[in-house]
Amino acid sequence: MTEASFFERVEDNKVRCLLCPHQCVIAEDRTGICRVRRNQAGILYAETYGRCASFALDPIEKKPLYHFYPGSHILSIGTRGCNLKCRFCQNYLLAHGEPQTDYVTPQDLVTMVKEKVAGSIGIAYTYNEPLIWFEYLLETATYAKKQGLKNVIVSNGFVNEKPLEELLPVIDAFNIDLKAFTEDFYQRLTGGELEPVKNTIVKAAKSGCHVEVTMLLVTGENDSREEVAALAHWLAEEVGKDTPLHLSRYFPNYKMTAPPTPLETMEQAHETARQELHYVYLGNVPELTKSDTFCPHCGSLVISRRWGSVRIENLRGNRCQVCGAVLNIIR
Ligand code: SF4
Repeated sequence: MTEASFFERVEDNKVRCLLCPHQCVIAEDRTGICRVRRNQAGILYAETYGRCASFALDPIEKKPLYHFYPGSHILSIGTRGCNLKCRFCQNYLLAHGEPQTDYVTPQDLVTMVKEKVAGSIGIAYTYNEPLIWFEYLLETATYAKKQGLKNVIVSNGFVNEKPLEELLPVIDAFNIDLKAFTEDFYQRLTGGELEPVKNTIVKAAKSGCHVEVTMLLVTGENDSREEVAALAHWLAEEVGKDTPLHLSRYFPNYKMTAPPTPLETMEQAHETARQELHYVYLGNVPELTKSDTFCPHCGSLVISRRWGSVRIENLRGNRCQVCGAVLNIIR
């Protein structure tokens, strides 16, 4: 097993993990909340180092990233474990289950992407929470970057500053899943906290990473006009009006039984967020067709996304072909 980064010894051979804000104090032969970092004889080990549970070549739009190499594909990998306990988890078999895993070294993974996965721009660390896979993620991403691949993280953003700072130089893009915009929601329904996630979003964006944000609107819990307005306002002020925001429709899953988010609520949330942000998209609602990108300066359609097909319409490089404005799109 690989020794973990970011821990300190405390009394009685216990260790304190310093990777995420839980800062679990872990007794011998036990793991922290995430179930993947184990104390053995006073040393913390990363149990899932190299253990991959899931591989798929996905459209980048599925992450979702709409402004990062639109229309491309990326090899997506994940393992098991999560440091949050969201009652509405959409990936609970990997996050909270015991999936079968295969051991793949960082070098073998990068070689596989380069030589055997035609058309992948790089590696997306996704499905479960990738930041608790820290050691493998850092080593793989560092090697992948040297080999000219892109690194994408799809994360809950619940991580301490120091590990985040170590990772940022090798990460090209983040999609950060903001669960809600109140501490109450985080405490009741996820077991986490909002402030560290806000900090991750700001820090990642300021470091030069491409950042998109997703929020699942859970019926009656975080879908009010006030909460969406507060989130959009904060994002516009702290990260910028050009930050893409994905509002996803919730469906009952795992331990959450509330009915799906009403379509009117999704439409209202889109309209509310658009008052602050240039790029707001709806996810899991193909019937509302709110997934196209328009130039915020002249209103021209620049990328259309319909039923899984992505078409570049009026875009040359990252400029609107109609008015010439530079858009927050990386190609
Ligand atoms: S990464 Fe895991 S073990 Fe470490 S503090 Fe977070 S939940 Fe606890």
